[in-house]
Amino acid sequence: MAALGAPANAEARDISRDTLAPNDGWAAHGTGTTGGAAADDDHVYTVTDRAELVRALDGGSDTPKIIKVAGTIDANTDDDGDRLGCADYATDGYSLTKYLAAYAPHTWGSAKPSGVQEEARKASADRQGERVELTVGSNTTILGLGDPKNTAVVKGASLQLKGADNVIVRNLDLRDAYDCFPVWQPNTGGLGDWKTAYDNIWLSGATHVWIDHVTLSDKGHLDEDEPTYFGRNYLRHDGLLDITNASDLVTVSWSRFADHDKAMLIGSSDSATGDRGKLRVTLHHNEFTSVVQRAPRVRFGQVHLYNNRYVVPDGAPYRYSWGVGTESALYAENNAFTTPGHVEAADLVKSWNGSALHQTGTRFNGYPVDLLAIHNAYNSGSERDLSADVGWTPTLHTVIDSAEAADRAVAGDAGAGRIP
Ligand code: CA
Repeated sequence: MAALGAPANAEARDISRDTLAPNDGWAAHGTGTTGGAAADDDHVYTVTDRAELVRALDGGSDTPKIIKVAGTIDANTDDDGDRLGCADYATDGYSLTKYLAAYAPHTWGSAKPSGVQEEARKASADRQGERVELTVGSNTTILGLGDPKNTAVVKGASLQLKGADNVIVRNLDLRDAYDCFPVWQPNTGGLGDWKTAYDNIWLSGATHVWIDHVTLSDKGHLDEDEPTYFGRNYLRHDGLLDITNASDLVTVSWSRFADHDKAMLIGSSDSATGDRGKLRVTLHHNEFTSVVQRAPRVRFGQVHLYNNRYVVPDGAPYRYSWGVGTESALYAENNAFTTPGHVEAADLVKSWNGSALHQTGTRFNGYPVDLLAIHNAYNSGSERDLSADVGWTPTLHTVIDSAEAADRAVAGDAGAGRIP
């Protein structure tokens, strides 16, 4: 007999073969998204460490497979499961002290770093990449086991979907894709900047992808605690979820993005014209808390953004949320922002060479706002006015709630461990 009060049906329901509902965003388009639902019993795995996870991923094969993650898996481990730190990866004489001495702008100048320390940095980075970059192939479902108090965690990894079709990632806490070996790029942004390597999840040429009830963060190593070198923050993390290189048909739902600088890049370059007509993404019922920028930043894609919750805690660094880039077509409905006093409604939208933004139903600290009108009234001299006509109207979506109702629902139910 089941224990009194235990929700017996919650235990019994096998969600590992769930598929995306027929109208749930762009990933439902065409053939829809079923992940590994067709897996035979030999290709259903429960994994508890990096080695088991790597074996189950099968080099990114397209065999239908379901991978259930139990407990905490650390990607920075050797084949025996022993922890690997940055010092373990460092090779060929790499040292940060020597690297900083070699490429200090006042002596090295603005040329791309080259020579002994840069070669050693690359070799060291390759050793880390070999451990933390995990390729996810077509027809795969990755599902974290556990409840809110005991969620499955994968830390230090970069899940990479390169050209994969039909992938589901659910109920997983993916944290701290920490780069031991950032590279100095003297010509980035005028002042130079540090470039880091790993996104928690990276879609490159991937199609039909459903990311649901996932928590993505830097938990473990916050970039705000990192030092400044050459006058720039020595960031250790790249994107939380970057969608690039003609990826298409993606739904991101009920997920939580937290404690991070650049959360989500959709389209990595203005010159990537192969992205035209692709990068179609739906983001709904997600939470972005303590995210500095790119929530998301979009180029080219038709992106439907509805019922998302944005929270900027008092004192948290913040630049903007919606980046309206080249040929982007963001269609935003009923999103809610909660910010401290120094963040104004005009800060939420930033345009880089974008031309249009559809937004309705936005709430800002409890009040309705028209972010398009505000952007056009207060944009800086370098930003153009945006038109309201993005050239499309979303048809694939679930019920769209009011911003207020969604804000409450997302606060309670978004992220890993919260699949109802
Ligand atoms: Ca990236």
